[in-house]
Amino acid sequence: MSSALDPNLRRALADRVRYYRELGIYDFYRQTEATEAAAASVARASSPVAVIVREDPCLSTNPQSEPPSADPASALRLIREDLGDCTRCRLHKQGRKQIVFGVGNPRAELMFIGEAPGADEDQQGEPFVGRAGQLLNNMIKAMGIRREDVYIANIIKCRPPGNRTPERDECETCSPFLMRQIEVIHPKALVALGAVAAKTLLAINAPMTELRGRWYDFRGTKLAVTYHPAFLLRDPRQKKEAWKDLQMVMKELGLQPPAKPPE
Ligand code: URA
Repeated sequence: MSSALDPNLRRALADRVRYYRELGIYDFYRQTEATEAAAASVARASSPVAVIVREDPCLSTNPQSEPPSADPASALRLIREDLGDCTRCRLHKQGRKQIVFGVGNPRAELMFIGEAPGADEDQQGEPFVGRAGQLLNNMIKAMGIRREDVYIANIIKCRPPGNRTPERDECETCSPFLMRQIEVIHPKALVALGAVAAKTLLAINAPMTELRGRWYDFRGTKLAVTYHPAFLLRDPRQKKEAWKDLQMVMKELGLQPPAKPPE
């Protein structure tokens, strides 16, 4: 974007940024090639869109410093609007049916973050609705809460072909939207489900056995790591370990242990 901004454009951008701030949104996705075009469209449109350049969307380096949103539901709707019918990475042309944004309570105290939508999620537009989702529901229930009480999202929002592991550039392109979701929901605790979520959020390359069992600071929010439900379906003996992780989270959130043990 050229440094000498038209005064009307500058005013329109400032108004829109103020509007976003009121909603508790402080970070904006950077789309370099679109910046000039977006600025031009701001100049044309009566309802302009602000594009703020933030050089490094890299996950673990930007501490969370902003206050929670006054209206997280509206803020989430705005993030979804910004995402649009996303074509920012190759996954949009590799068979995804729809974007799987995230689901749950916009004021959730607890947020679960998985890897990527699978076939069922791609079909239904909601994270964790397949077999792994059923197990996640049971895990949530075992904590004495309901699926509707938490917020569930993934590192990336489109299904990779054949459910392959997301590529690094796909995670980097998509995850700024997740960062904004976390920022407006402002949960008390985050739970990374599986190695992809944990390693992407923490920028640590370590085996799951080392990542689990402790709290991390993620931009000012506590983050725990546990096994991905799909892994637990393949190796149910590890459910005991996952339950220990969830108990650690329950203790932090002051949740009562349920009368009935998890399945
Ligand atoms: N696995 C994930 O990581 N996320 C989903 O939404 C479903 C399965």
